[in-house]
Amino acid sequence: MSKEKLLYLQTFGCQMNVSDSEKIAGLLQGIGYRPTNDSSQADLIILNTCSVRARAEEKVYNHLVQYKGLKRKKPGVLLGVGGCVAQQEGERLLCTLPHLDFVFGTHNLHLLPELVLSAEKGERLAEVSFIDNEKRLDLFPADTANTGVSRFVTVTQGCDNFCSYCIVPYVRGREISRRSAEIIEEISLLAAKGVKEVTLLGQNVNSYGLKNSGEMDFVTLLRKVCEVSGIERLRFTTSHPKDFSLQLIDCFAELPKLCKHVHLPAQAGSNAVLSAMNRGYTREAYLSLVRRLKEVSPGIQITGDIIVGFPGETEANFQETLSLLEEVRYTDVFSFIYSKRPETRAASYQDHVDAEEKQARLDRLLALQRKITLENNRSFVGTVQEVLVEGESRRGGQLYGRISGNRIVNLAADPALVGQMVRVAITTAYQNSLQGELCS
Ligand code: SF4
Repeated sequence: MSKEKLLYLQTFGCQMNVSDSEKIAGLLQGIGYRPTNDSSQADLIILNTCSVRARAEEKVYNHLVQYKGLKRKKPGVLLGVGGCVAQQEGERLLCTLPHLDFVFGTHNLHLLPELVLSAEKGERLAEVSFIDNEKRLDLFPADTANTGVSRFVTVTQGCDNFCSYCIVPYVRGREISRRSAEIIEEISLLAAKGVKEVTLLGQNVNSYGLKNSGEMDFVTLLRKVCEVSGIERLRFTTSHPKDFSLQLIDCFAELPKLCKHVHLPAQAGSNAVLSAMNRGYTREAYLSLVRRLKEVSPGIQITGDIIVGFPGETEANFQETLSLLEEVRYTDVFSFIYSKRPETRAASYQDHVDAEEKQARLDRLLALQRKITLENNRSFVGTVQEVLVEGESRRGGQLYGRISGNRIVNLAADPALVGQMVRVAITTAYQNSLQGELCS
């Protein structure tokens, strides 16, 4: 009997990478690799990387250097790099890191088993070529091997928006929409295996289907997914505000399975900065979208992304971002200091904001958002929420789940309730979660 081989898979960055890592684990199961959480036990280590921010990329290099020591102690272990850093650097990584065995790009997941088998024979290879759209559609990896309560299902890949700061169109390629029939088939299979909630995933899901002749649009796709029996909850991410249609807003009133949460990245609150970012909307249009969402779906939770210290951002521009936070009253915001990315348009912009000032602005923004988040979390205390129980909580002896608005709730309950929708009375609000009690 052949010896079981262990895979240690490290994922950096966004939800898209988390979803790709699930697919990587599924593909490598096919050639005998089982996941482990202990890198020192692994026969194969793969880093699924992100290059959206310089910091994320540095982290990857730090890890790769650390694995040099591990490979010295255990020479048989294989080391591979995938994702956006792999796409960006390609063969250069093999040249600069002699202990690295293989590199695979964002369009090459399907080639991974072959690459690993070649690496097992001692070959060092990099496969980072972009694939034309027709072939890419045929190679869209579905993943129904791994299940659970809640799953991500990819509906689009790549992006055509070319926001001036963003490397995604260069490392993930142009936007393609997966065939709707295959999406529905994957979701039906997941539902048959007990999955209760799906999140449709893409860099900009709102433009789903618009560039494929004869394909349905995103609103129709949502309606079709809601018809899949066994699926109790539906979410989607990420939305681009410029493509968020009135029909899509109305779905929050019309589709009971659609959860009351939208991730709607604004990136900045000032029109001057939004224009320099090439975002394609104004502050006024963004706020009007938020107002309409709140009218159609009272209590809807809105999360966002903000970039602080974009080249040319003045104190007055930054004040407009702070006031946007106050007006939207985000549930939570993912905020970052601008970082210059190769090939992007903003990399050539004059950057007058010094590092200390950028950090100070980020600290001010974080302080304001922490206050809003806590106030918002407190507004749930005393309410009863439908919670889909997802698993055991990191708080010992408890379970965790999420409300429709995507806030985490911890509760003491029987583990047999994992996968069930239960009613929970919210008793306490913390900064990042809620505490509740099961209603009888
Ligand atoms: S919409 Fe803009 S920020 Fe989002 S992935 Fe596309 S280019 Fe990047």
